[in-house]
Amino acid sequence: MDQTVKEIFKDYPKFYIVDCCVVFSFFNDSIHVLLVKQDHGPSIGTWVLPYGFVLDNEDIDNSARRILAAKTGLENIFMEQVRCFGEANRYPYERVIACLYYALINKEDFDEQLNKSDNTKWFPLTEVPEMKYDQNEMIRAAVTRMRYRTMVKPVGLNMLPPLFTMRQLRKLVEAINNKPRDKRNFRKIVEEAYYKDHADRQKKFQTRSCSLSVQRKIIRTIPERKIIIVMLEELKRKVFKANIDLVKHNLVLFTWGNVSAIDRKHNLVVIKPSGVSYDTMTPDDMVVVDLDGRVIEGNLRPSSDTPTHLVLYKAFPSIGGVVHTHSTYATAWAQAGKDLPNIGTTHADYFHDAVPCTEDMARKEVEGDYELETGNVIVKRFKDINPVHTPGVLVKNHGPFTWGKDADEAVYHAVVLEEVAKMAAISFTINPNLTMSEHLIEKHFNRKHGPNAYYGQK
Ligand SMILES: [Zn+2]
Repeated sequence: MDQTVKEIFKDYPKFYIVDCCVVFSFFNDSIHVLLVKQDHGPSIGTWVLPYGFVLDNEDIDNSARRILAAKTGLENIFMEQVRCFGEANRYPYERVIACLYYALINKEDFDEQLNKSDNTKWFPLTEVPEMKYDQNEMIRAAVTRMRYRTMVKPVGLNMLPPLFTMRQLRKLVEAINNKPRDKRNFRKIVEEAYYKDHADRQKKFQTRSCSLSVQRKIIRTIPERKIIIVMLEELKRKVFKANIDLVKHNLVLFTWGNVSAIDRKHNLVVIKPSGVSYDTMTPDDMVVVDLDGRVIEGNLRPSSDTPTHLVLYKAFPSIGGVVHTHSTYATAWAQAGKDLPNIGTTHADYFHDAVPCTEDMARKEVEGDYELETGNVIVKRFKDINPVHTPGVLVKNHGPFTWGKDADEAVYHAVVLEEVAKMAAISFTINPNLTMSEHLIEKHFNRKHGPNAYYGQK
């Protein structure tokens, strides 16, 4: 270095600089902070913010990223500087200036790394312990900055999984703003923000009563990551309505029935909750599960028949909705262990072949994963049957399952199945030796489903 410059600098002190980081995530309905167990020095054994010294030739921001990666394994995350903490006596041993950052992460992305050591722990914001020096003050400063930033930019979404629900979004907004939101109003705002174009939205929101900051946040939130939840809300309403339709069509007593539908794009299934009375059920009670049966959203347990539905969705990729009932006549055929033969044009219009009855289930299938195995016996029975042409089955000694391109069509097929099962039962009592010609079956099935279908409106 130039001698004169050296001269100038020799009169000034040298300080240490550390980068500290407040890592936020959102889960269990509250904002959490990640702390690290200190393993050396005067604070050994206490919880501290992840920190480290800035090295020679290292940019201060890069340093923060390096330190956080080293301490916690967290990489490629949203991170911003809050401010410097430079009080002369903030650290009693040496003069250390702390540069504070905050990061927003989705906890699930990092569970694997974080679980590797017991040196890190998530604390709800309200349960952060008393820490040494100015660390609690740092957390307060980071919270203030985070709250402000999430108001003006949709960065808060970094704390949610890529696929999140309306409820999670609302709880996040509530946690950030520290005040509850009206559920219905919130949904309305999100849906409008999602569906309307931007200009239209602006106009609408000016007349709305909710706070401007929340509106802004939600508006900006939406395009950032597409909110799948909005689609699921729609699907939940459809599945709810389809379940109510089962009652309307007299296909279920008590809670003996269930409808589900799948969002194929995201492989999420919406299904009726287990054992909830149809009288009190609401669309919000519908449970969202993934194809492995994990509950993605919902406070209630999903229908106990969920595993059967999931097997069907996996085996029949073209179906979008599944219905199960114990409707009287279809169940009577299932209990009799008989395929429901195609003996009339009503049947032939919807089911190309006989509606097949499954085989007996083995003891180990019944005693094992019963509902899943129920799905498997159905799939086995459809080895040589096209599930689109024959959208239903009779599970032996149990009852019917039907399906369709969506929940509504699955319900429709459940109604048709019950009706043709009833007709067939009566027909056989009148004439046990009745027949129906192959060409009449073909005629009826093809006028609706064949290449030259002409039934109904174009
Ligand atoms: Zn059942």
